[in-house]
Formats: sequence, structure tokens, C-alpha cells
Amino acid sequence: MRIIIIGAVAAGTSAAAKARRNREDAQITVYEKDSDISYSGCGMPYYLGGEVENADALTPRDPAYFQSKYNVDIRIRHEVTAIDPAARKVTVRNLATGEVFTDAYDKLVLATGARATLPPIDGVTRPHVFTLRNIGDMHRIKTFLTERQPNHVAIIGTGFIGLEVAENLKGLGMAVTLLEKLPQVTPGLDPDMAAHVQAHLEKSGVAVHTGVSVQAVTDTGVTLADGTAISADMVLVSTGVKPNAELAAAAGVALGVAGAIRVDARMQTSVPDIYACGDCIEHTHLVTGKPVYRPLGSTANKTGRIAGDSLTGGDLTFRGILGTGIFRVFGMAVAQTGLSEREARAEGFDPVVCHNIKPDRPEYMHGQEMIIKGIADRTTGRLLGAQIVGFGGVDKRIDVLATAITFGAKAEDLFHLDLAYAPPFATTKDPVMYTGMILENAIHRGRPLMTAVELDALSDSGEPYTLIDARVPAQYDKRHVPHAVSIPHEKLREAAETLDHEAVAITYCNKGTTGNAAQNILLGKGFKRVYNLSGGEKQYAAEHGKKNQ
Ligand SMILES: Cc1cc2nc3c(=O)[nH]c(=O)nc-3n(C[C@H](O)[C@H](O)[C@H](O)COP(=O)(O)OP(=O)(O)OC[C@H]3O[C@@H](n4cnc5c(N)ncnc54)[C@H](O)[C@@H]3O)c2cc1C
Repeated sequence: MRIIIIGAVAAGTSAAAKARRNREDAQITVYEKDSDISYSGCGMPYYLGGEVENADALTPRDPAYFQSKYNVDIRIRHEVTAIDPAARKVTVRNLATGEVFTDAYDKLVLATGARATLPPIDGVTRPHVFTLRNIGDMHRIKTFLTERQPNHVAIIGTGFIGLEVAENLKGLGMAVTLLEKLPQVTPGLDPDMAAHVQAHLEKSGVAVHTGVSVQAVTDTGVTLADGTAISADMVLVSTGVKPNAELAAAAGVALGVAGAIRVDARMQTSVPDIYACGDCIEHTHLVTGKPVYRPLGSTANKTGRIAGDSLTGGDLTFRGILGTGIFRVFGMAVAQTGLSEREARAEGFDPVVCHNIKPDRPEYMHGQEMIIKGIADRTTGRLLGAQIVGFGGVDKRIDVLATAITFGAKAEDLFHLDLAYAPPFATTKDPVMYTGMILENAIHRGRPLMTAVELDALSDSGEPYTLIDARVPAQYDKRHVPHAVSIPHEKLREAAETLDHEAVAITYCNKGTTGNAAQNILLGKGFKRVYNLSGGEKQYAAEHGKKNQ
């Protein structure tokens, strides 16, 4: 069997390694147009910032390694320029010599990945403008940093790559300005969670401009569409990626969402004996069952392995993705899995959301607060997604939630998980369990939540409502939600008699727990429509751009 693989980073090398494990007799050739293979692109921001000291640590394997360990022939600086599915041949150009030749396959794997997009901005090809996609990009940026010693970087786009680079370049002492065309940072998060990230960026000394459009890059900085000039002697464009699918399309391979290659669960494309994997393919979403494009290294490795297995007769199939991801920005971990609230609504779900603010472990063990946004379907109780920001233990919570969602858990199932507890690691009831309890209370136990957005809409509607700040008066005096009355929790039983039992009532405290206790009191006294403000005053303030105390 003759196997040809195009692309030798995460997906291509995984496919090669798995194919070799399954078939010792196969002849496996990988063509890679770049000079670097099987590298950790995810580590590149940390080399720029110096946390990874040696670039070689990101490129531990070379073609000789694959030859000796797997008997796989990786040809670097070889670009596949055409595929002829009828003749089962590819055309290859040796970029070092210019030689062009054809090579025959029985099975072909497209692992061509993705490339950074460059928006149509004047001056975007100037020498001080960079993208960060591969090792070559990384070295170009490092050389620029070393030789030109820039003082101020403008980063266009606030996805995880832009923010990881922001953290690293700020760590070098550079001024950092973030420019985002959407009204929020981190486009994958819902705005209520992105607000925490933006506040943290600003607290860390980064200038953040949202809702702006960059019109031109000049020698001295960038110019926005409204004419504002921002000075910068280095620019990074991190506005997303585009799948490298043109070669496939030219060969008649069907494309799907976002122009990525369509594959089935065995990574088979629409053309016989052609498989695809990694950042060049679309994926099936585990919650919706619909195709989505979520290029991630975690998935690229997995789909590469499945492609390698599938084409050598194995029975591995791909089950789909949740788009689970995590990144660090100035010490804050930002994570998400499954559908966002916005996506859930767009998919026709009626989502119930909660903002659960809890320490990752007891305060006496220096626990740090994390905010978990849980999203569940009101009709079935099924968990749809979660987003977390925090400073400790975010990684394990997002993975527990991703696991739960993968296996179709409902909100009420989270409380019953037998999670590990000891003070250095968690609280007796883990924040994940609380998330389930809050959602379950809202869905099944008549303890509905109201989000800050819903409260604002209610306020705008003109419908009368009673908003009760159940904290101590000193906290109310320091800052409170507009139109709230101060009725401390311990006085609420008495004061409730004087309130309108028919009007909508909303209770709140700092984060939600006492607000829930106040909600219980009013419900017990026969109030008909009582909501607890999700995430309390803290979440409300964050969404309204106020610094949390
Ligand atoms: C800065 C950065 C940080 C990241 N951090 C994370 C992270 O923390 N977590 C995470 O999950 N993911 C992360 N990612 C994403 C992850 O790196 C990618 O998902 C992964 O590299 C995809 O692997 P791939 O093999 O599918 O594609 P690619 O890495 O794009 O590799 C495809 C290769 O195919 C080659 N190729 C294309 N066309 C041809 C052709 N015609 N002939 C020959 N060769 C060709 C290309 O030169 C390229 O080398 C990060 C990415 C970047 C850039």
C-alpha cells in the first residue's frame, strides 16, 4: 500500500504514525512545503516572551526521527501543487530545486492545515506587520524583537493567539494596544464573560479598543476608520485562520462550512481514497450534530490518528467536538466548551444560564475566585455549554464539564458527580457541583435566575419591579445596582409584608448565595415571580464596565 500525506505538522504526522502502527508494509511519504515539521505551534507565544527559552524545544522531531522511528519518509520543502484522483497521482514541486514530479498513491491524506487571514487593510504587508502561524513566523517576530527592539505593539484581533502574544510581549516591557472590531474581546465567549477578560486586560496595563475598525497600517502605527491614529512600531494581525482547502477543491473534493473540507466520521472525503484531517476539515458539533469549523491542535491530533487508522482498515471513528479550549492571559485562565449562550439561542434552544462565582479551593488555602457560566436547555435540562474565567483550577473544571456534556449530562447530574476533594485542591462541594445545583434550582425547583441583560431589558420595558439588595447597608452604600432598594437579608421577612407580592421581584447579593436565600424567603411568603440576579452585583457590575472591588 502506498500512502501519501500532504502536510507534516499535527494532523499529518499523527496520521503517518498511526498508519505505520497499523500497517508495517505500507510505504508512507509525507510532503511538507515548509521546513519545520511536527512542531508545537501552541508554544510559540511563550518563546516570544522568553518563557520557552529554546526554540528547539518546540520542534523536537525532524524527518530523520520519523524515518528511523516510523520508517516514514518526510520530504520538507516539497509542495503538492495538484491532485489527480482519477490517476491517483499528485504533482509535487521541490521548492529547493524547482524540480516537478508526480507520485502515485493508493490512499491520500490531506493534512494541509490552515493559514492566518490577512484582512484588507492598507499597509498590512509592511515589514513591521506580522502574523503568527508557523515556526518561520515565530523566528521572524523574534528577530524583529531582538534587532529592532520595538516599544509598542498594536494587536489586531482578540482571539486566544492575540491575547497570548499580548501577555508575552507585555512581559518583555512593551506597551500593548488591542484592537477589536466586535464590541467585546475574545469573540468565542459570550459578552458577559468577555467583560471579565477585558477588565483583567486593562488591569494588566493593556489598552483595549473594541468596536473599532483598522483602516491602515502606517510606518508609525495604525489608523482607525474614524481617523484615530494609534502609535505602534510593531503590528500583529491575529484575525483568525482560513482552511487550506484550495488544493482539495481543485481535485473535486467537497467543501463544507467555512470552506473547510467535508469528511465523514472516518475522515473520508467525498472522493474515494482521499482522506482529510486537522485544521483543513470541518467537524461535527457534539451538541447540535451540525458541522462547524473549530481548528484546534487537540482535534487535529485526534483526527490525524483517525485518518491514519481509517485508511489502513481500522475501525476508529470520530465522535465530534465541543470546541473545548483554554488559554492563559496575564495569569487568568479563560476556558470554554460546548455552545455559548449566543450559539444556543441561534440553534433554537431556550437556554437557562447561571454565573456561579466560587473559589477554586477554600479561602484558608488561598483559593481564588472563578466564574463559571453554565448553560443548559430549559426544556430537557441538558447541559449545552460552559465558560470559565479564573486564576486556579479552571482547567480541571472545564474538562469535567466537557466530559459531562460529552456524555449528555443534565444540569442536575453535576451535583451527583463523585469529584475529588481535599482543601489544597477543591471545596467540599466543587464549583462544578454548585453550577449544576444553581441550574437545577432554576430549571426544576422554581428558583429562576435573571441575568444582567434581562434586568436591563426589564428596566427599559417600564414594567414595575422590586429590586432588592440583600447585602448589608455598607455594601449597598458603596455600590449597588440602579433602582435597587436596600433590604438586608435578615430584615427581609419583616419588610416583605410591605412589598407588592404581585410585582416581579429580583433579589441579589454580592455573588448569588444570599440573593438565593432572599429569593427563598419571598417565595415562601407567596410572592409569585421572584428571580435571583445571576452572579449578583459582582457580575452585574462587570457587565457594566465597573471595576470589581
Ligand atoms: C500561536 C498559536 C497557538 C496555538 N495554541 C493552541 C492551543 O493552545 N491549543 C490548541 O488546541 N490549538 C492551538 N493552536 C492551533 C494548533 O496549532 C493547530 O490547530 C494545529 O497546528 C493544526 O495542525 P494541522 O496539522 O492540522 O495544520 P497546520 O499546523 O496548519 O499544518 C499544515 C501543514 O501543511 C502544509 N501544507 C499545506 N499545503 C501544502 C501543500 N500543498 N503541500 C505541502 N504542504 C502543505 C503547511 O505548510 C503546514 O505546515 C495554536 C496555533 C497557533 C498559531
